[in-house]
Amino acid sequence: MQVDLEAEKKEILSRYRGLLRSSTRSISTAEKKLIRKAFDVALEAHKDMRRKTGEPYIYHPIAVAKIAAQELGLDTTSIVCALLHDTVEDTYITLEDVENLFGKKERQIIDGLTKISGVFDHSTSAQAENFRKMLLTLSDDIRVILIKLADRLHNMRTLGSMTREKQLKIASETLFMYAPLAHRLGLYNVKTELEDLSLKYKEPEQYEEIVSKLQKTAAVRSRFINQFMLPIRRELEKEGFSFEIKGRTKSIFSIWNKMQVKKVAFEDVYDVFAIRIIVDTKVEKEKADAWQVYSVVTDFYQPNPDRLRDWISIPKTNGYESLHTTVMSPKGKWVEVQIRSKRMDELAEKGYAAHWKYKDGAAQDNNLDSWLNQIREILESDSDNALDFIDNFKLNLFSEEIYIFTPNGDLKTLPKGSKALDFAFHIHTQVGSQCIGAKVNHKLVPLSHELKSGDQVEVLTSKKQTPKEDWLNFVITARARQKIKNSLKEEKRMIAREGKEILRRKFRNMKVDFLSINITELERYFNLDSATELYYQIAKGKIDLKHLKAFENTNGRLSIPEEKAPPPKTKSKPKPSPPPGKKDMLLIGDERQEIEYTLAKCCNPIAGDDVFGFVTIHDGIKVHRNNCPNATEMMSNYAYRVMKARWASKETVEFEVKLKFTGIDDVGLVHNITNIISSDMNVNMKGISFESVDGIFDGEVRVLVTDTEHLRTLIEKLKNVEGVLTVDRVDSEIFP
Ligand code: MN
Repeated sequence: MQVDLEAEKKEILSRYRGLLRSSTRSISTAEKKLIRKAFDVALEAHKDMRRKTGEPYIYHPIAVAKIAAQELGLDTTSIVCALLHDTVEDTYITLEDVENLFGKKERQIIDGLTKISGVFDHSTSAQAENFRKMLLTLSDDIRVILIKLADRLHNMRTLGSMTREKQLKIASETLFMYAPLAHRLGLYNVKTELEDLSLKYKEPEQYEEIVSKLQKTAAVRSRFINQFMLPIRRELEKEGFSFEIKGRTKSIFSIWNKMQVKKVAFEDVYDVFAIRIIVDTKVEKEKADAWQVYSVVTDFYQPNPDRLRDWISIPKTNGYESLHTTVMSPKGKWVEVQIRSKRMDELAEKGYAAHWKYKDGAAQDNNLDSWLNQIREILESDSDNALDFIDNFKLNLFSEEIYIFTPNGDLKTLPKGSKALDFAFHIHTQVGSQCIGAKVNHKLVPLSHELKSGDQVEVLTSKKQTPKEDWLNFVITARARQKIKNSLKEEKRMIAREGKEILRRKFRNMKVDFLSINITELERYFNLDSATELYYQIAKGKIDLKHLKAFENTNGRLSIPEEKAPPPKTKSKPKPSPPPGKKDMLLIGDERQEIEYTLAKCCNPIAGDDVFGFVTIHDGIKVHRNNCPNATEMMSNYAYRVMKARWASKETVEFEVKLKFTGIDDVGLVHNITNIISSDMNVNMKGISFESVDGIFDGEVRVLVTDTEHLRTLIEKLKNVEGVLTVDRVDSEIFP
């Protein structure tokens, strides 16, 4: 690649100057020097690096710094840190360098950013709730979170050059964690952009379709708004208001989301939009003016009393202020009208970045602090009311994992419901075996204490402690159960040895031979599954050896009279073996390993389909088609459980596919279809059913094909049969 380095240098400098110009607050000469220093350090450190697009890497930190300055309205420290945010992780620059060159604060922020990147960008297991807690734990300074958001926003804007897998992972993660975070922080514009960009990469076709349909319908919408607003506009002018009207459609993502959730077409959602009346007024008159505008609106249109929201008297927890009402338009359609002041509008759209405009000088800095504190409070509050961080995702359904910290701050992942003892066994078998209690967040708790995400746990041990049988009643991890059982088994074996001696003596007295057939007879009688168990119970006195009198002794052989025999135990059914020949068909995960998997029933993938692996809780890895009806939900809600998958070979394995037909009934049609399927195409037919009503037939056929190519050819051929109208692959029977 030929790169004009001189031109590139110029471009870098011009972008840097753009950054300086973009700040929403005034920057002093001293601050400018600091930013320049950070720019020089980052430029030098990243000098040989390029982004996936081929552009110089420095474009990225400059862009992130610009977002921090312009769109989030952050201060000089943040701009400096945004410029440096990738240096410690990706270059020779160390945290010490940062501290020496800039200061303690900067070091702290870069440290937080580097850690978050380590935990979240490079691990596969991250969930919103943990994300929130982790962010708090790793970021002493809330600016870390805001710079991280800026970083993610720029990465989303430049996602086009990534591989498809990376796009899906990053887009899903953004949708799941970063967009709700932006929402929670009141950064409406950032949230909307993150969501729209996520959709663009997750569902490119649907995204493009909505975009183009929105463009096509724009004129109709603006005509409607003009007509609707005409009488209101006149009246407001008459009353001397200075105002602005915005007619906003929902974002692309929320239109798409509505189409999915409500299962409706674009045409049913596109015109659901809000009309916003923004009044330019003094702060002290805001409320009175808003209600006066409300009164004008409802003079013309009938309001829905259930849909009045007064967020001016009581702002939302993220600071949102506005007065909302829904009124009936003359065309019989509900229209949401949002009434707010100019200040409220800017705050709602730009969040903190807009605050600067309403404060100056020293008040600016106080304001930043109070906003940062407010964010911390929002993130720390566990109350789930009002605008929820996780509301959209019904997180509690998904939190199958919790994060626990060791006293040193190391992070351990455990299943939800884990007890202190599970954690102890997770650390080390011996720590678990000798565990006598634990300190959770410095408070003493019993072994059976259930842990919560974010707990810091210190295990207390004693050399005298040994695993106890009742521990099995509360531990939930497989590891702890296994270790406890092993240890108990060892103990049991010792005790069983005594029991064996007792039985040997008893047999001697009864003149019964100490033979395995006799032991087996006893096991059967007492309904036990091993000799060890039998000896153990004897040693523990749980089995009364007087029972032996019931047996008949024939020359040293024990037998039990028929009528006294206990009913024989029913043997459990053997597990069905997995279908053969599947293992080497699919390669799963980054290392393209061969892992056991099953094909999902909801979309019935076959070789050649675009697929991904999904880690289920109980059934191992399930393979779904990328366009499975459930794929979007899985990818956005459980991005961390999604694994890459690719078909490796298309050998002789056959997949069952169901095809639906419609057509015009004709003698010989069924014959023609079956003929193509069985002879022409050499396809195995598993079943066929036809129904014909008044000359129109509906049919279904189940066939075995080797891959998508095979299937495509088959469908083409069938479509060519005279009388056949449609042939479609049926996704599943479970989700019609
Ligand atoms: Mn970055």
